[in-house]
Amino acid sequence: MSSDRPARVKRSKIEIKPHFLPVEERGLNFNEVNLGYINEQEVIDEAERCLSCKKPRCEMACPTGFSVPKMLLAIKEGDMQKAADVVNDYFCTPSSQNRICPAFCQDACVVGRRGDAINILNVKRYLSDNYVKPASFYERQPLTHKRIAVIGSGPGGLTAAHELARLGHDVTIFERSTLGGMLAVGIPEYRLKNSLLHAEIKDLEKLDIKFELGESFGKDYTHKDLFEQGYSAVVIAIGAHKPKFMNIPGSELKGSIHAIEYLRHVAQGKDVDIGKRAIVIGGGDVAIDAVRVSRRMGVESEIVYRRSLEEMPATKEEIHATIEEKIPINFLTNPVEIIGDGEKVTHVKLVKMELGEPDESGRRRPSPIEGSEYIMEVNTVIHAISQEPDVDDVRNDFELTRWNTFTTKDEDSFETSVAGVFAVGDTVSGPKTAVEAISHAKKAVIEIDNYLNSQVPVESDIATNM
Ligand SMILES: Cc1cc2nc3c(=O)[nH]c(=O)nc-3n(C[C@H](O)[C@H](O)[C@H](O)COP(=O)(O)OP(=O)(O)OC[C@H]3O[C@@H](n4cnc5c(N)ncnc54)[C@H](O)[C@@H]3O)c2cc1C
Repeated sequence: MSSDRPARVKRSKIEIKPHFLPVEERGLNFNEVNLGYINEQEVIDEAERCLSCKKPRCEMACPTGFSVPKMLLAIKEGDMQKAADVVNDYFCTPSSQNRICPAFCQDACVVGRRGDAINILNVKRYLSDNYVKPASFYERQPLTHKRIAVIGSGPGGLTAAHELARLGHDVTIFERSTLGGMLAVGIPEYRLKNSLLHAEIKDLEKLDIKFELGESFGKDYTHKDLFEQGYSAVVIAIGAHKPKFMNIPGSELKGSIHAIEYLRHVAQGKDVDIGKRAIVIGGGDVAIDAVRVSRRMGVESEIVYRRSLEEMPATKEEIHATIEEKIPINFLTNPVEIIGDGEKVTHVKLVKMELGEPDESGRRRPSPIEGSEYIMEVNTVIHAISQEPDVDDVRNDFELTRWNTFTTKDEDSFETSVAGVFAVGDTVSGPKTAVEAISHAKKAVIEIDNYLNSQVPVESDIATNM
């Protein structure tokens, strides 16, 4: 019996697994753990599993709206270069981003409902690692001679700089510390090599993006100084770098430190002796990074998290790797006091927790079990509960929310309370993810470009354009 319907292709429900450094080879080194796909056939086979949904949930789930279907279709059609161009044109540091993205697209993938979702991230990573960027990555529209100051060089600042430079604007990035933002000083080397990130940032110089390092916005210069120097707009992308500590007795003791400070010091190669034993408080990716880094530094460390595995906010892969590396995670446990010898930490008092009804976050609320307290000997307590934007030096110049994030004109706008000054990334949203900062930047650039076009040219602009 003949039929007009196309024959049903039987697709595997199981993903082609990317390669990982074997656990026994991890030990006390910072070698990359996820090695991705290592040959093209793996990538093609994985892309073939895509159902080409009419309503691509993967694309809708990505905060930037990255066109996953376009990339996968090009692979299915056998055009790897075209697929790579889709990725490499879209992200300003694609190989870095494709190592650390939480891949909301994969969580939404329909194939994942009855098997493994398409491993979109590792497909993207293979393309960005193995194919050069297209000419369009470097192409700039006719120069506008408008100068834009971008403050901060994390994913938000870099994306804004790249997109603004492509529109023909003259962009300078101002960075007070290390280029790359949290990707350089937070995310450890075994997840993202700094050399790779820095090579990708260096490449942006081909679009005439300039870098000014060492001075701090708010302290050493203000937005008013920048306007006086001839900048037409300012983009603030300073992230969320101020540690938030758990408010328990003993938090002020020497040896009670914050994860982002610890990770920054390790990343910058500073001397970081935290003793023999440490606990890390928290259940997010920052806690996981801190515990895995401290283990690699030879410290006997473990996580304490007040809820259960089910509620843990860290990404599944990171939790899996932590368990695989045999790092203890003490679920349903919370510190109540940090104990010291009058100067530095010697012990921590912990209490066991139980879960009740869901709280405002939708997760079951933990509460202490009376009489379950116990004491653990430690040299260091690493707080990884949260961080917030470091806005102390700009507090008088801008309107801020009670979470110390910048307010914007309205929900769809990135313009701050000061005309011509825009804010993107963690400094607006609070600590989130790189892809969300990238999404902000891409949207803000459209608003900034409109803002610049709406400005009446001043005489000096007219003179420059003649
Ligand atoms: C340990 C850790 C692990 C993480 N892991 C992941 C992950 O795996 N995947 C993921 O997507 N996200 C991850 N995140 C979150 C992600 O790094 C951030 O969401 C993202 O970097 C935010 O980008 P941003 O551009 O807003 O700010 P940032 O990347 O924080 O960059 C801000 C930059 O501004 C600079 N700056 C700050 N203040 C000033 C000033 N006054 N003057 C001049 N410069 C200034 C800083 O030095 C920094 O370079 C992680 C975060 C941490 C802390």
